[in-house]
Amino acid sequence: MSQARLMDGTALARRIVEETARKAAELTDRTGTAPCLATVLVGEDPASVTYVRMKQNRCRKAGIDSRRVALPAETTTEELVGTLRSLSQDPSVHGILLQHPVGEHIDERAAFEAIAPEKDVDGVTFASFATMSFGLPGFVSCTPGGILRLLDAYDVDLAGKRAVVVGRSAILGKPVGMLLLARDATVTYCHSRTRELSSVVREADVVVAAVGRPRLVRGQDIKPGAVVIDAGYNEGNVGDVDFDSAVERASLITPVPGGVGPMTIATLLEQTVDAAARQLGV
Ligand code: NAP
Repeated sequence: MSQARLMDGTALARRIVEETARKAAELTDRTGTAPCLATVLVGEDPASVTYVRMKQNRCRKAGIDSRRVALPAETTTEELVGTLRSLSQDPSVHGILLQHPVGEHIDERAAFEAIAPEKDVDGVTFASFATMSFGLPGFVSCTPGGILRLLDAYDVDLAGKRAVVVGRSAILGKPVGMLLLARDATVTYCHSRTRELSSVVREADVVVAAVGRPRLVRGQDIKPGAVVIDAGYNEGNVGDVDFDSAVERASLITPVPGGVGPMTIATLLEQTVDAAARQLGV
């Protein structure tokens, strides 16, 4: 069998960001207000600091203002909830991103729930999960939303297909399964207690790996011709799929980096501009 075609998330994300920048400029012209994303960072975890800086740089390039709120590591749940509530009420802020993880001593769910649904451009609240799952207007979780855009861009027909999602986190595994279900895929979730993971994955027409374990999904587990989405990002630019063996069996596969990662930020920027447009009544 020939090698899989690569799903180029970098190129697709670039097109989405260009379109988003065009919409942001138009909105700013019409209303005199630029879309604004507040990024909230608790502590100084180097990876989180880098992610926030990267998101702010991308915002700037797309004509989106960003407001950086940096809180000390010892911030309490109550203080964080207070900050997020006041950003939720601030009319000059249109989207809110709480960078996670936030630290063991903080109730992350309580913090997420302090974000107003209309500003939840990262799609982390209960309300966003529910609207996304029911196919109602709202914001999707960014990485899952980006994955669906990639599948659409490569004309992957999901109806009736067996989709296996490895991972069930609130921000990635669970919501991506819901989006696949909404497209009429038959969805199976796998997790750390799943027995015989390889044999479950082997039945999949579409595999989404969202685990955080380098190269957990191997080529021999991939049904020939399957579509493989690797959302994993581990040290050394390594995904959750063993790319070298999987590329020999799949029909389409995302590279790491350059597959799912850029789509996440593109979705965040797009949803921030959509949030601003709704709040500014345009
Ligand atoms: P997470 O919260 O740690 O969740 C990992 C999931 O994988 C859990 O549901 C866990 O099962 C499951 N799991 C762990 N070991 C397993 C095993 N041996 N077999 C089967 N399932 C197993 O991670 P996450 O936040 O969803 O992130 C997953 C990966 O995606 C990471 O590599 C992360 O860096 C990456 N990521 C990428 C982006 C992006 O923009 N590209 C965004 C977010 C995350 P249990 O539920 O049973 O514990």
